[in-house]
Amino acid sequence: MPRAGITRYAGTRSVATTEVLHEDRIKMNTMSCRFCGSTSLHSFIDLGMSPLCESYISAEGLNSMERFYPLHAYVCEHCFLVQLDTYVGGEDIFTEYAYFSSYADSWVEHARRYTEMITERLQLQRDSQVVEIASNDGYLLQHFVKRGIPVLGVEPAANVAHEAIQKGIPTVVKFFGEQTARALLAQTKHADLIIGNNVLAHVPDLNDLVQGMKILLNPHGVITMEFPHLMRLMAENQFDTIYHEHFSYFSFLTVQRVFATHDLVLFDVEELPTHGGSLRIYARHQDDASKPVSHRVLELRDREKAAGFTQLAYYRSFEEQVKATKRKLLSFLIQAKQQGKTVVGYGAPGKGNTLLNYCGIRTDFLAYTVDRNPYKHGKFLPGTHIPIFHPDYIKQTCPDYVLILPWNVKKEIMAQMACIREWGGQFVVPIPEVKVYP
Ligand SMILES: [Zn+2]
Repeated sequence: MPRAGITRYAGTRSVATTEVLHEDRIKMNTMSCRFCGSTSLHSFIDLGMSPLCESYISAEGLNSMERFYPLHAYVCEHCFLVQLDTYVGGEDIFTEYAYFSSYADSWVEHARRYTEMITERLQLQRDSQVVEIASNDGYLLQHFVKRGIPVLGVEPAANVAHEAIQKGIPTVVKFFGEQTARALLAQTKHADLIIGNNVLAHVPDLNDLVQGMKILLNPHGVITMEFPHLMRLMAENQFDTIYHEHFSYFSFLTVQRVFATHDLVLFDVEELPTHGGSLRIYARHQDDASKPVSHRVLELRDREKAAGFTQLAYYRSFEEQVKATKRKLLSFLIQAKQQGKTVVGYGAPGKGNTLLNYCGIRTDFLAYTVDRNPYKHGKFLPGTHIPIFHPDYIKQTCPDYVLILPWNVKKEIMAQMACIREWGGQFVVPIPEVKVYP
């Protein structure tokens, strides 16, 4: 098909035109696939221009210029990796990170249960070695330390790594990859267990990360990684989990392909409710025959194939679904404001910033938001400049609606903030589509 220029079609609205525009986007896009290097990338979802979602603004910064970057995800025609371009390097994003894992109770509990399970399953002992990549403030490794199992955390953000060290959790402040893996081996032994939770999506150089783990893993060791499952993201409309810090979005089929390229086999998988639906994969060396591939691996592969994850058309259907969700949320907010109601937010997570910037929701709709993390108090959300207060501020102002931005922990928040019902306040959850909880 000849590829006509966009200008020639400006103002026309046929289906064929949309196709041509998509084709042209491929042409204009200069990125290549983060995993396989292909340049055949197709538009998955265009969320417009957005600031980095963790770049909270201080009061003095409100009058300064803010950087916005395109938030446009593409899907690779060859390996089906959904990805964003790397507009900013990991150094800019992660050297001072505002996210302290320990502020989310349910996440700390999730980590504790994982530690119990994996210690039993792998028979970890006092002479084992556990390494966690992106170990944050030690929320997970602390549970191994309590059991006397040796650990090492690798964390690029100095401020959160410092918290871990203060808790007595050995942590090196570094980005993890092939080079770091080799450097660690000069000081410590191969790992029996390598953990990487919500790290696979966050690294610009995917192959370097996986190769680093391959090098550090002992011959019978196991890697477990958790990451949001693209299947759930698409089925449940979780477009707000797309932000610049998340470079990649994985189906099981694609992640299996990535690991296989580095001679690592996924021998088991679990589907978890965390972050709106995550996968926990279990990987081993290809030649480690002691761990057979479970039926869960085969079953999930079949399910993804049946859902359409090996067909480009399925990925291309996502954008219209997202636009419909935006319209529903805005309709709710417009109606609430026309009725003179007050609406505030709960939480200041990264995903909230994607949602608010994409939908154009500022203090005209959302008077303020609150967060338990004191690091964010007195600051403002990037782009939308919505102020962030301590959760007690809700009790002082008695709003009609509280919009829960971290919808993945909505139950926990509704329980913590049950007091809003005393004045007739109601919770609102925006995803998968706007819903009021009376
Ligand atoms: Zn690819």
